[in-house]
Amino acid sequence: MSLDNRPVYTGGCQCGAVRFRVEGALGEASICHCRMCQKASGNFYLPLVSVRGAMLDWTRGEPKRFRSSNAAWRGFCAECGTPLTFEAPDGIALAIAAFDDPTGIAPTIQWGTEAKLPYVDGIPKLPSEDTMADIGSAPYLAELVSYQHPDHDTDQWPPEERP
Ligand SMILES: [Zn+2]
Ligand SMILES: [Zn+2]
Repeated sequence: MSLDNRPVYTGGCQCGAVRFRVEGALGEASICHCRMCQKASGNFYLPLVSVRGAMLDWTRGEPKRFRSSNAAWRGFCAECGTPLTFEAPDGIALAIAAFDDPTGIAPTIQWGTEAKLPYVDGIPKLPSEDTMADIGSAPYLAELVSYQHPDHDTDQWPPEERP
């Protein structure tokens, strides 16, 4: 919460070169299946939340932008490639999973369903394992050191020493 009781959200890219802060209520949270959102995210669909009615600040770095149409720009980290924004004349939306805590930002609508990939609806029914269930065939997992920026703001990043 901010001083005047407005909610505050933080987030950023995987490498930490770009960080954002949102103050105020988030708008509509959605996923978009359209072909442009698939390409821009390298994924089956792109989860976005509007920050149109809130205050967005880039607190470290700023996204590089690709103009994906005459109406929109796609922001991403130029260092690590994390998709971060969809920017249209009516406002900006942020990639939900780029937030430090995306758990409370549940999508309420799907867009672009004409391009929905045929297996997306079957994903919840696939066999499921947690990461460490694969340790037998991927022993490096036991000594894995993450270089991902942590899910909170940092004074300095990256840390000076890394294994
Ligand atoms: Zn990055
Ligand atoms: Zn889309």
